[in-house]
Amino acid sequence: MTSHILIIGAGFAGVWSALSAARLLDQAQRGDVRISVLAPQPQLRIRPRFYEADAHTLQAPLAALFEVVGVNFIRGHAEHIDSQARQVGYVDDNGQHQQITYDRLVLAAGSQVARPAVPGLAEHSFDVDQMESAVRLEQHLASLADLPASPARNTVVVCGGGFTGIETATEMPARLRAILGEGQARVVLVDRGSSVGAALGAGITPSIIAASEQAGVQWLTGASVVAVDAGGVTLDNGDYIASKTVIWTVGVKASPLTAQVAGERDGLGRLRVDDHLKVVGQAHIYATGDVAWAAVDELGNHALMTCQHAIPMGRHSGNNAMADLLGLEPVVYRQPKYVTCLDLGEWGATFSEGWERELKLQGLEGKAMKQQINTVWIYPPAADRAQALAAADPLIAIV
Ligand SMILES: Cc1cc2nc3c(=O)[nH]c(=O)nc-3n(C[C@H](O)[C@H](O)[C@H](O)COP(=O)(O)OP(=O)(O)OC[C@H]3O[C@@H](n4cnc5c(N)ncnc54)[C@H](O)[C@@H]3O)c2cc1C
Repeated sequence: MTSHILIIGAGFAGVWSALSAARLLDQAQRGDVRISVLAPQPQLRIRPRFYEADAHTLQAPLAALFEVVGVNFIRGHAEHIDSQARQVGYVDDNGQHQQITYDRLVLAAGSQVARPAVPGLAEHSFDVDQMESAVRLEQHLASLADLPASPARNTVVVCGGGFTGIETATEMPARLRAILGEGQARVVLVDRGSSVGAALGAGITPSIIAASEQAGVQWLTGASVVAVDAGGVTLDNGDYIASKTVIWTVGVKASPLTAQVAGERDGLGRLRVDDHLKVVGQAHIYATGDVAWAAVDELGNHALMTCQHAIPMGRHSGNNAMADLLGLEPVVYRQPKYVTCLDLGEWGATFSEGWERELKLQGLEGKAMKQQINTVWIYPPAADRAQALAAADPLIAIV
């Protein structure tokens, strides 16, 4: 009898889960397990680049790749997980409600920017979290050219000075120059931390300061946004910044589908998984990528919501779901090496190693590394069966 692995999500973790499951099936020379990916579109959306211009192009098609490795793609949006009945309810491309059963489920539905209950935030702010929202921001930026110059038109406020906020803010001056012309734009980054890049460590802070100064990005530290309206933002000290473009980058939370699986969760909503990425307490459900709360070493470090972690996690979760069905040994997920590569606009980028973020490359050398990562390494393999399956080996050395 044929059994079925269902993977929800075609992001980094979902794609690599599908490939690694197909690889193990191929190696075992078995044909009695079907692998399906359920997602709204057969494309890998390159979220790490959504602060760039031309957001609609930042995706890689998956149909040919899935076909060549024997993965069935189902276009739809999962709404309901019934772990007792091993069934997923979803809305298909025609808006019809459908049910699909599974023997092993791999939840790879990713994450979303968190939007706290700040008045006006939902109505009046933009983000760079998903392709649709990045495109909406891009269309809005283009439309600024039709407005008469004013402080509100010319000012972009980026809320949050973490990785996404910094990458967005330092990219923004060049993007605005292309739309508004020289010398018009003002970019303000509002961050709760007491100093520039406070949360990111001393190793890369001098680069962030240098890049912000070169780009003219103004940091307002020790400040929080308490309200947003059509004309700008109000800060917790009562100051008002006139701006037609407020970009929210603070906080991320795991897909709401995680709430439908019984289990322990961390503060980001991620499901606690064991060393094989199976959800603790669930016999048939794996979680991977941004929905998984997974240990990366024996020292107490956990995977972050990054594709640096989602890709290797995918190589393990798909492999292990398939191993479970085939009666083979699973592979333990460990990823002790951690690096960061922070884009800093025209100044360049930083590349650091270790949880303390020791600086290894900066400026244009760092930028070359960032471009290699963001335009080559994180893209899916070509639609070549042998190559794609080989690339999905969970034992490939990480980073
Ligand atoms: C602006 C930005 C910059 C970033 N920079 C970096 C960086 O420099 N380095 C780094 O490593 N990471 C970075 N990240 C984080 C990285 O993009 C995520 O960690 C990564 O995308 C997680 O992969 P994933 O497969 O878990 O989820 P995602 O890539 O989010 O994929 C989720 C998939 O699930 C699908 N899905 C969601 N809900 C459903 C549903 N209900 N039913 C069916 N399918 C569903 C989605 O359509 C998608 O196919 C950045 C993210 C952003 C937004």
